[in-house]
Amino acid sequence: MITSRRLVSFANKHVAAISYNVTLVNAAASLVISSEMTANEASAFTDANDPRQTRLFAGRVLHHRTSYAKDRRIVLCHATEKSGLTLTCAIDNALESSCPHTYKVAHTEDFGQVAFTIDAQSGCPIHLTKYRVYHTSETASVEELCGRAEWTLDRVVTQGFQQLLGSQEQYMDDFWHRSDVRVRDIREDRTKRSTVEIQQAIRFNLFHILQASARAEVTGVPAKGLTGQAYEGHYFWDTETYLLPFLIYTSPRIAKNLLTFRYKMLPQARARARQLSHCGAMFPWRTISGEEASAYYAAGTAQYHINADIMYALRKYVQATGDEAFLRECGAEMLVETARLWLDLGFYSDTKGGKFCINSVTGPDEYNTVVNNNAYTNLMARENLRYAAQTVEALRATDLDAYNALVHKTALEPSEVEAWIRAADRMYVPYDEKLKIIPQDDSFLDREPWDFRNTPHDHYPLLLFYHPLNIYRKQVIKQADVVLAMFLLGDAFSPEAKKRNFEFYDPLTTGDSSLSSCVEAIIAAQVGDIGKAIRYGVAALLMDLADVGGNVKDGCHIASMGGTWMMLTYGLGGMRDDDGTLSFWPRRAPEDNAILRFPVTYRGQRLEVEIGLEKVEYALREGEHLDIRHEMEDIQLTRENPVAVRPISRR
Ligand code: BGC
Repeated sequence: MITSRRLVSFANKHVAAISYNVTLVNAAASLVISSEMTANEASAFTDANDPRQTRLFAGRVLHHRTSYAKDRRIVLCHATEKSGLTLTCAIDNALESSCPHTYKVAHTEDFGQVAFTIDAQSGCPIHLTKYRVYHTSETASVEELCGRAEWTLDRVVTQGFQQLLGSQEQYMDDFWHRSDVRVRDIREDRTKRSTVEIQQAIRFNLFHILQASARAEVTGVPAKGLTGQAYEGHYFWDTETYLLPFLIYTSPRIAKNLLTFRYKMLPQARARARQLSHCGAMFPWRTISGEEASAYYAAGTAQYHINADIMYALRKYVQATGDEAFLRECGAEMLVETARLWLDLGFYSDTKGGKFCINSVTGPDEYNTVVNNNAYTNLMARENLRYAAQTVEALRATDLDAYNALVHKTALEPSEVEAWIRAADRMYVPYDEKLKIIPQDDSFLDREPWDFRNTPHDHYPLLLFYHPLNIYRKQVIKQADVVLAMFLLGDAFSPEAKKRNFEFYDPLTTGDSSLSSCVEAIIAAQVGDIGKAIRYGVAALLMDLADVGGNVKDGCHIASMGGTWMMLTYGLGGMRDDDGTLSFWPRRAPEDNAILRFPVTYRGQRLEVEIGLEKVEYALREGEHLDIRHEMEDIQLTRENPVAVRPISRR
């Protein structure tokens, strides 16, 4: 009988461990258990025809520095080919058994092995614990790094597996306490199966976000998290637009790490702007180390909206946490540099009535590239410019030291702020009088409609079957674009405008990107199309568990996982934070999930929201005082009066 438990520790950053229990059931035998470690393993499978997949490295990427063995311990140290990053991996093995045993140790440059030979007796348990540590450094010497790995091993081997397990459980309990979204069917007569499945899918998604982000202290979150190699481990806007809302409201410390990581990229973003003859800073569309790593500019670099997406997330973070210090010390500088970029990129166009236009950019929809006045980009740039101006003015009025420090760091001129306000106020947002919709960009409505009728079902995603030139000249959309703007900037659209735009764009949207369904689900629910809301919602929720996109083998879709949290809280919970007040306009829970419950961390306090069929309960579980809004009513929750129950109005 073999059982095993394994963990990658959250609490002990460098540590993973596996505990094997082997017991021979009905006979004695000689047993070999080999504990191994390999570097430079052959690269994963990849399909050269799929641009989303990773490219294989031509040669070895890890170069041997040292390897040695000590007792049951193996240490391997390598350095990366280009960046010279050094990494040490080490294992140690503890075998407990009253069965007689011996072991042999072997290692080469890329391989290490501790092989136990056991004279196993029937019914006599054998416990092997394999401890693994992983240390990296850009500066430490090989000896120092190996020393660090060995100290960590010494510590965890002494503490033992149970202690690691205990701290993991504690960490996970804290996480679920802050983050779990629960659905429950209160009626006795219905099958509970679907509720159970939905609950499982929610937790699966949230857990993967945790895995990918919890210890991302000097890194970002790859599009596939830690689950696959597609997109080469690169970081995109997925983090700020899809993951950060969840993290901001449940694990603000992690959200701050990720925003700090962007801040640290500012020098490269400034250099990149210079390279493209721009002022300010231009954050990379896809990156590892801060440098732009897009292979193809039209669907990559041209997505200038990433600047505004990061600033949008910054504002949400500051509002929800009250972390003005971060805004002062890091945020303001990013705001100044991103606002500068927009001002430099756009211009006042005579042909558009003197409005501020932004040309030759790609919006979120990668099937319409290098276009003029992508509505999403213009709307988000307007937010970026306004937030920058507002932040600088607030600093000047309330904190002269911080303001002077900012001026010193950025050589800011007071006239710049006026120019940002002017550009924001005169921002051009396309509008079509006849259709009464916001065209996705200046040329979108002129394009020839895509022939959906004659596109075979197995020819999606289109990007794998049609040349980009074929796609780009047609009216067809990869992922939510205007529809995304309607979610992120909900206050800027009337309910009628949302309905008209959704009805126009939804049939043109292929959903070829997994970033689409969650957003479409939210807007479908807002405009009252519950059938579509459920269809898109289930697709987003089960994106990986049910392999909706057919490519889960390449890794999970982390952005969609974050999107499912948005669907539940912003979508069903009707949560809004656009105007600086945490407010809720919940929908009655759909019949099958009669109760939806989720916690929200807001300014260090913990609120629990429970939405039933007809009423909603707000409970302040931690903290002294929280002002929220339910529908149109302002509610104060205090330690003395921590709970408010309100009816949900019919819509
Ligand atoms: C989407 C991008 C996304 C990237 C990584 C692409 O297919 O179009 O919006 O950032 O995948 O998830």
